[in-house]
Amino acid sequence: MTIDRNLDLFERAKRSIPGGVNSPVRAFRAVGGTPRFVQRAQGAYFWDANGQRYIDYIGSWGPMILGHGHPAVLEAVQKAALDGFSYGAPTEREVQLAEAIIAAVPSIEMLRLVSSGTEAAMSAIRLARGATGRPKIIKFEGCYHGHADALLVKAGSGLATFGYPTSAGVPPEVVQHTLVLPFNDVAALEAAFAEHGAQMAALMIEPIAGNMNFVRATVPFMRRCRELCSQHGALLVFDEVMTGFRVALGGAQSVYARHMPGFEPDMTVLGKVIGGGMPLAAFGGKRAVMEQLAPLGPVYQAGTLSGNPVATACGLATLQEISRPGYFDALGARTRSLISGLQGAAAQAGVPFCGDSEGGMFGFFLLPQLPPNYTDVMKTNGARFNALFHGLLRRGVYTAPALYEAGFVSSAHSADDIAATVQAAAEAMAGLPEA
Ligand SMILES: *Cc1c(COP(=O)(O)O)cnc(C)c1O
Repeated sequence: MTIDRNLDLFERAKRSIPGGVNSPVRAFRAVGGTPRFVQRAQGAYFWDANGQRYIDYIGSWGPMILGHGHPAVLEAVQKAALDGFSYGAPTEREVQLAEAIIAAVPSIEMLRLVSSGTEAAMSAIRLARGATGRPKIIKFEGCYHGHADALLVKAGSGLATFGYPTSAGVPPEVVQHTLVLPFNDVAALEAAFAEHGAQMAALMIEPIAGNMNFVRATVPFMRRCRELCSQHGALLVFDEVMTGFRVALGGAQSVYARHMPGFEPDMTVLGKVIGGGMPLAAFGGKRAVMEQLAPLGPVYQAGTLSGNPVATACGLATLQEISRPGYFDALGARTRSLISGLQGAAAQAGVPFCGDSEGGMFGFFLLPQLPPNYTDVMKTNGARFNALFHGLLRRGVYTAPALYEAGFVSSAHSADDIAATVQAAAEAMAGLPEA
């Protein structure tokens, strides 16, 4: 009998950690099988506890845009660690990171650093409510903004996987001011503002939703979001935890600004890439709004490890690398080559397939056309998706273990890695069950 160290570790983990994992989607509950316990990672690859290598299309769910162990980032982190892990007093690197983010994202005039996307989104909502003096917020079905109580309603990915309409432990009163609307539905949006416009503090949106696979807000829909927020005095909050510094240097908002010159959200939530794999996130926006935060204003927000010196070193080094001219052109082209390769493999195998990407973020569906919202994303045949996932995994390609998740290409992924992935997909697709 061969020894499966992943299985051994998983059995052991389940005795001390609920479900054996510290974040639900890692448990492979949606696709079945044994989660891979990662031993180490380098470049575009990681190795599991059995020593098996995988081409990694998760990249820590987005942060590892340079691939694992980039030399410049490693050096920055090692140097920072020698100077101390945390002080509870301000540092120059926090200022440098804030300045780097502000320079890349024109809508952000000021920002605050925190430690997770959840914390950033939660704080942004509190600030929006404090700054407007209003209670209500809009979120969209299938968009995930972290697991703060008020945002944990129809939130896609991990939640969708487990079929919770919402989470236990969130009293209805806590979400009574959270309106959940279908994504890309202008009529529903107009109706919500018509009824609640005067009470609306914020509209929070994943502009390119990555927690229901990969679904773009259409340009007309986004234009209407902007118009209605401005008209009713609500703040348009972009949750760019996933898309920020991932789909373009200026985030998804810069993609929308290409279609709508001058387009800007009022606030932006960031995470993932800005920490380069360390716990770091941020929320920012217009000066007048951000100055409502303590210690300047009445909206309280704080954090023992906020702006951590090792995390900021990691984030800064990462941003420096991805700011080089041509970086996103090359990354975008590589990611598109993956999607077109998969498309070709699917066509050969006679499998309905479509995909989309922006910068280093992608999604694909076993559907004939791109779904505009969560309901349509759910029409993907789960059994076929799971068979494809395991077919790829067996061939050393690690993609999202749930059909509601986006994927990520790093600049460490070579043309050969893409070709090997497409070859693995062609083989895996040949053996898919009937739709
Ligand atoms: C990952 C993610 C979050 C939550 O970030 P954490 O660091 O996991 O708390 C929030 N919003 C979006 C869009 C995300 O992708």
